[in-house]
Amino acid sequence: MKTADKDLRGKAVSRNALGQAFDELLEPGRFDDYCPNGLQVEGRAQVRRLSSAVTASAAAIRGAAALGADALVVHHGFFWKGEDPCLTGTRIQRIRLLIEHGINLFAYHLPLDAHPDVGNNACLARVLDWAVDERVGTNGLLWMGRLARDATAASLGAHLRRRLGRAPLAVGALERPIRRVAWCTGAAQDLLEEAIAHGADAFVSGEISERTTHLAREAGVVYFAAGHHATERHGVQALGEAVAARLGIAHRFVEDDNPV
Ligand SMILES: [Zn+2]
Repeated sequence: MKTADKDLRGKAVSRNALGQAFDELLEPGRFDDYCPNGLQVEGRAQVRRLSSAVTASAAAIRGAAALGADALVVHHGFFWKGEDPCLTGTRIQRIRLLIEHGINLFAYHLPLDAHPDVGNNACLARVLDWAVDERVGTNGLLWMGRLARDATAASLGAHLRRRLGRAPLAVGALERPIRRVAWCTGAAQDLLEEAIAHGADAFVSGEISERTTHLAREAGVVYFAAGHHATERHGVQALGEAVAARLGIAHRFVEDDNPV
């Protein structure tokens, strides 16, 4: 395969050693999650190349296969609570792709959101240059910080656009000054009330609901929907890098862009 360049030539470790390294870092046992965390689909026993992606989409799995990956680690895997458990349609197509290419699928959801170093919230803070004051809420998933100086919705929106590569949707009290910010990546729009209770002037998450606009307006805060994918594409890369470096295996992120 042409992609077998030399920085992708890692040493081989066992699938179990890789799973253990993820678990030691992320401690999934501490979380009551909506999906199983850890190995979701078993592939070959030896892993030399690791890929990471935000979601275990068919495109991401094909991307991992093109890189010759033996394992793929994602933030959004399979087998969600309430999901149809039957392996039909796109669910079996994705799993068939993994099996055809012998790729192990590891997934970490809340443990990856919450991790203080490689987690999605931590990585978002680094990308945005925001200092973390405190982590509050269930599982410590709501992060709070204070900007060095007052921002406006326009200036903060421009900062998000520059650093995340897409323009956020801003709603609420757009004219107010912003100093105390709260954030939680992904689809955390319903943490807005909690963010307000903790004194946030603005809250940044990925997605938005119709109700979010009214709550932000009436509470006099600003809500930024900065993109689920855009706010969560850094954590899984940091996880892949950290674990690959620790084990001496190769790692590559697979980007499967998503406007949501
Ligand atoms: Zn997510």
